[in-house]
Amino acid sequence: LMELYMPLNWFGTYYRAIQKNFVDMENMFDLLREDQEIVDAPGSAPLLTAGGGIEFNNVTFGYSPEKLVLRNVSFNVPAGKTVAIVGPSGAGKSTLMRLLFRFYDVQTGAILIDGQNIKLVQQQSLRQAIGVVPQDTVLFNNTIFFNIQYAKQEASDEAVYEAARLADIHDRILGFPDRYETKVGERGLRLSGGEKQRVAIARTLLKAPIIVLLDEATSALDTHTERNIQAALARVCANRTTIIVAHRLSTVIHADEILVLQEGSIVERGSHDQLLQRVDGIYADMWQQQLKSSDVEQSASGDSGTE
Ligand code: ATP
Repeated sequence: LMELYMPLNWFGTYYRAIQKNFVDMENMFDLLREDQEIVDAPGSAPLLTAGGGIEFNNVTFGYSPEKLVLRNVSFNVPAGKTVAIVGPSGAGKSTLMRLLFRFYDVQTGAILIDGQNIKLVQQQSLRQAIGVVPQDTVLFNNTIFFNIQYAKQEASDEAVYEAARLADIHDRILGFPDRYETKVGERGLRLSGGEKQRVAIARTLLKAPIIVLLDEATSALDTHTERNIQAALARVCANRTTIIVAHRLSTVIHADEILVLQEGSIVERGSHDQLLQRVDGIYADMWQQQLKSSDVEQSASGDSGTE
């Protein structure tokens, strides 16, 4: 049904976008339901979640066999904990996220959620357990209400409003010309980067998954917007197993573990303090670089600012 609302070339744009970035995987699957390479294993059972603990076990993967993008990647995210992934562009951070969502299958090794190999569980149950807050959310050419409720189509109006409140976008929506009935997207009201991310947060709050994958915005947002969004993001990650592709110092500092990914391998791992103590550490170096940039100084001093 939803497909009817899309202009045809939209699929092409969308597909290229997701191949390039870690963009809105949840929507992607609904849109491309017909021709999926990934299929349920015969006799697969639904994922049984118990806290949402994640385990990457010696995972190797390449988009093509001749070029590996991830090499022997192993890590755990205990239930309810937060792992931040940092590393240079092209290191494989988004690829890790795509594999967890089973957008592709691993070449060797395995990804487990609460002890179950994600290759062997029903995809629908896997994706039900995972909420994604992408950097760039694609909106349907439909009302803002539809765009939030989309995450859980049986949600009541009140539940949609509540999710919007927690994502700090309810008041803004009330200021739109037709409030919740305002058309958004390409052919409607254009939302800002910050607003779109709030829609993604509202969707995820409504979905209430046990696992959250978050692709932090790199730089598109101004400091004030950024600070407001941090509070909403903290709400969406609270009490959930979380993996963040992190760009913000405030995020990495608070992560339970930080993984430094470089050319497809984890080259350093530990808490912020542990990694800072490494002599000639890559993370320690990244930290120094970031400290030097004025952007960071601003957001660090902004913590005590007023809203
Ligand atoms: P960034 O910080 O720039 O988003 P990243 O660490 O998330 O980078 P990935 O997007 O995971 O990196 O990409 C890892 C490598 O895989 C890169 O060399 C990239 O060119 C390649 N790659 C990513 N997506 C595809 C794809 N769909 N097909 C082929 N190669 C891809």
